[in-house]
Amino acid sequence: MQAELLQLLASHYGLSGTLKELAGYEDKNFLLKTDANGEKYVIKTTPNTTDLPLWQAQNVVFKALADMESLSDLQLSEVVPTNSGVEDDVLLVEIGGKAHLLRVLRFVEGGFYAEAQQTPALQQDLGQKMGKLNKALKTIDCPLALRYRRFEWDLRYLLDNSKRLNCIQDPKRRKLVHYFLLQYRTWVQTALDQQRQQLIHNDVNDWNIIVEGEKVVGFIDLGDACQTSLICELGISLFYMMLHKADPIEAACQTLAAYHKEYPLEIEELDLLYYLIAGRLCCSVINSGYNAQLHPENEYITINEKPAWALLEQLFSINPIHAANAFRKACGFPPKATVDHEQFLATRDQHISRAMSISYKTPIKMERAAFQYMYADDGRTFLDGVNNIPHVGHCHPKVVEAIQQQAAQLNTNTRYFYDQLNTYAQRLTAKFPASLNKVFFVNSGSAASDLAIRLAFAHSGRKHVLVSEHGYHGNTLIGIDISSYKYEGKGGTGQASYIKKAPIPDPFRGIHKGKDSGAKYVREIDQILAKAEEQQTPFAAYISESIIGCGGQVIPPKGFFKSAFASVRAHGGLCIIDETQTGFGRVGTHFWAYEQHDITPDIVILGKPIGNGHPLAAVVTTDEIARSFETGMEFFSSFGGNPVSCATGLAVLNVIEEEQLQAHALAVGNYIIQALQKLALQHPQIGEVRGTGLFLGIELIEDVKSLQPATTLASKIKNEMKQRGILISTDGPHENVLKFK
Ligand code: PMP
Repeated sequence: MQAELLQLLASHYGLSGTLKELAGYEDKNFLLKTDANGEKYVIKTTPNTTDLPLWQAQNVVFKALADMESLSDLQLSEVVPTNSGVEDDVLLVEIGGKAHLLRVLRFVEGGFYAEAQQTPALQQDLGQKMGKLNKALKTIDCPLALRYRRFEWDLRYLLDNSKRLNCIQDPKRRKLVHYFLLQYRTWVQTALDQQRQQLIHNDVNDWNIIVEGEKVVGFIDLGDACQTSLICELGISLFYMMLHKADPIEAACQTLAAYHKEYPLEIEELDLLYYLIAGRLCCSVINSGYNAQLHPENEYITINEKPAWALLEQLFSINPIHAANAFRKACGFPPKATVDHEQFLATRDQHISRAMSISYKTPIKMERAAFQYMYADDGRTFLDGVNNIPHVGHCHPKVVEAIQQQAAQLNTNTRYFYDQLNTYAQRLTAKFPASLNKVFFVNSGSAASDLAIRLAFAHSGRKHVLVSEHGYHGNTLIGIDISSYKYEGKGGTGQASYIKKAPIPDPFRGIHKGKDSGAKYVREIDQILAKAEEQQTPFAAYISESIIGCGGQVIPPKGFFKSAFASVRAHGGLCIIDETQTGFGRVGTHFWAYEQHDITPDIVILGKPIGNGHPLAAVVTTDEIARSFETGMEFFSSFGGNPVSCATGLAVLNVIEEEQLQAHALAVGNYIIQALQKLALQHPQIGEVRGTGLFLGIELIEDVKSLQPATTLASKIKNEMKQRGILISTDGPHENVLKFK
């Protein structure tokens, strides 16, 4: 190829010398050093001859820029004219028996920004020079080929990249990119078209910026230039300025502020920047993945990939509102308004009952969330360790898109046939032993526990329920009746006549402690069951959570559930397990927490994580029990199991499997438990670290002897953690157990 090229260069340009191939994807580029005086040229070739109008248009732009007075201190790609007078100096030639386009540009001397020391002075100079370049580009009458160009490197068409999302092999990385594409669609897509449009360079990356010392002296490679929204220029370029930086936003602001001074930006443009930067990162890693598949031998493709991933993950931890405010500040604009807490509370109080509590002395106004992070209105980012509802992560794109898609397609009720109900029921019941094969869908954990009790009444013909001390199951009438946490707690009106309570099987603080406490707790249950029989008030059911969450993350002793179930069943009662907090792999070792106890319940209650925040809950039971409910009275829930809910639940199951979240919960949980246990050796106030997977409790005490609960300390830690950006809660009858989920 090189011999042919040299011949072409001699005949069309009168140039001769030695060629060296430059790195690139599909196009082959060479550096020519002339024999005569050592002058350097960049020789560009491509087999994509349909790019002819594009290359001609680019050459028109190069020539226009070369004539501009305002750019006299910048070297830009300068077109070398052919001696044959071809239109716009792009040649159509044959190389290696194949048609190619060929053009020659003058080599721009200097170092690369990528290899320079990126001092604030250089970052600022870059901003000013980019401003100058954009100002100049605005004055060019954009050739049609660049005006109507549609390609994936124009951020206006970022979503065209979605079709290649699967080129990213790692599901965890893929979900980050998917998330940002979804945010782009939500925040940017429509707004971007409303911003200023003009011709831009469109690829001011760190290998296209030429520097000398702390000055930018040139820009090369206008191959991606097109007419688009001006702010895309910064979205693209700033990403490179942010790589390898401890504070990437601060680094971007240096360049941004200088750019704004030269060529003022608008506040609406700045507010799109965070997602545009993230968008460009997505574009970059998707294309690396795609090209790595096409050209596994080409290392250049993945050169930028590693730092890009690091920055993408870093961006997640940065609240987009913080970024927007920093960008605004750099350009002299005021920050986004934050809520006036007093006023907000007054309005809330007008319409919302104080029975609904608010977390923290100074509440947090939440605006957005992403996976493990929540973003407040003032720019703070919080790691969410409280909320076990967004089980696969806040705003998980697969779940969000499943909801959006199904809501746009069909939402109706169980009185019709639709595929989603059967599919989801099959997938969900497949997670249970064969005997638990019937499912009732409802909209809340409360509705599910209410229904579970009704099923038990219907099946047994009995009217009494045995509950666990400090248990919580819901907010309906029955829900409160079976929740000792509520009826015995603040504002509670005491135990209903059809309820009996078994002591919480807490081996740390309960009435029986230590090694064989399990058997002692079972004996308590035996006695209650026997007494009920004597009094002819036999139990329809015994209900408990697998881990008693509101009781303080209490894990009943080994063997307790097995023996307790045997006793209840021997007395003709059903065993109901509430997995609302603990289900769907959270405990790490098993999909359901009850499986840790080698038992099979008769009825299982599911809620919270099942829909990742979408109002979905379920009761899973046996054929036989479900049949007892077929009395002639219809069971109908307007929303329960509707197509949108089923699509949501299905998406949640898919994500849990695809991202192997159960194993992840186990690994992360074990790591945290070990770290906390080490901490416990130094701090006697840590009475016990307990839990499994990502369902943890740290019981705080005043001293080991009295086990006096350290309630004030727990509250102090919770608030200190919030100050440090981590949300955890306190629970247990003494509010002395730190909960982390
Ligand atoms: N059961 C348990 C164990 C719960 O934790 C909860 C909610 N905290 C419920 C049932 C009730 O669920 P919901 O709030 O969806 O009605």
